Amino acid sequence: MSALSPRPGIMKIAPYVPGKDSVDGKEPIAKLSSNEGALGPSPKAMAAYAKAAAELHRYPDGAAEKLRLAIGRHHGLDAARIICGAGSDELLNLLVRAYCGPGDELLYSQYGFLMYPINALGVGATPVAAPEQDYRTDVEAMLSKVTNKTRIVCLANPNNPTGSYITKDDVRRLHAGLPKNVLLVIDAAYAEYVTRNDYEAGIELVDQAENVVMTRTFSKIYGLGGLRLGWMYGPAGIVDVINRLRQPFNVNLAAQAAGIAALDDIAHADASRTNNDVWLPWFSAALSKLGLKPLPSVGNFVLVGFGSKERAAAANEWLMRDGLIPRMVAGYGLPEHLRITIGTETEVKAVAESLGRFVAASK
Ligand code: PMP
Repeated sequence: MSALSPRPGIMKIAPYVPGKDSVDGKEPIAKLSSNEGALGPSPKAMAAYAKAAAELHRYPDGAAEKLRLAIGRHHGLDAARIICGAGSDELLNLLVRAYCGPGDELLYSQYGFLMYPINALGVGATPVAAPEQDYRTDVEAMLSKVTNKTRIVCLANPNNPTGSYITKDDVRRLHAGLPKNVLLVIDAAYAEYVTRNDYEAGIELVDQAENVVMTRTFSKIYGLGGLRLGWMYGPAGIVDVINRLRQPFNVNLAAQAAGIAALDDIAHADASRTNNDVWLPWFSAALSKLGLKPLPSVGNFVLVGFGSKERAAAANEWLMRDGLIPRMVAGYGLPEHLRITIGTETEVKAVAESLGRFVAASK
């Protein structure tokens, strides 16, 4: 037996299992397992990526200045209070490493994004899950779990995999109930898809408070998941802390170039949002008609209830046989559900038809 052992907590981590990208090694008809942008990357981003190839012998700008300025211009933010990361995953991890340690607690919501407990265990902290009502973050339940060990509260808004969101008033109530020495991380990976008036991604709250940050990503509506690009907006003090901890060249050169071009292609992001606005309600209605239970979603995916874990597993197999890849979410404690990304018209129709045949065959 090896005398080496990892730090406490690491072996409690169930490794994150990403969505499948092939069916028995074959190219799928539709990959709907990772909430990737349905329309793919903007042609402008692809061109900028290709152009960056000539510069690949150069290190990237470690401060990602042009990209931060572009994000700042796009959202009306001070670029000095933005940090870019290799996906928002990197930033979520850095925040936990900076503000949480052995013996501390990281609080999240029962069906919250899986990387929150993984990040907590990685630093020897204890992940604490607050129970949900109707697959939605429950502010009172979250606040009732705060102890003097709580260091970070992670809120995915909208949440993956449930697709639910809490209103800006609820986010403010959650923040108001937290001690000032607790960091509230608002993970707004799907913010660009939300079209509700009572939703706010977190910018206003970051500007009003010392202990709130917001994280965003280029992996969803901008269709750049393969490049790993995310960003964080926070108070100057927190930005300073994370800049001390992050790797000097954490965002690669091609990602920086493509990110700037993606922000510039407003028509492409608008088309992606419109695709979602049309096909999310269509898909949910089609599944309801089949007697399945799609949860209300404001993201680019829908969590579908099948009534039992056996039926969800059978539906997963069935869709895979048709070359359509959904996401099993048993790792989230949701074995009776599948999560399905809203793809293009052809893709969502193929899934609805396949599930129609599944329901008819299992009657
Ligand atoms: N937060 C949430 C809620 C997510 O669903 C995801 C993607 N699975 C991420 C963060 C991380 O995204 P990325 O690292 O690609 O920016």
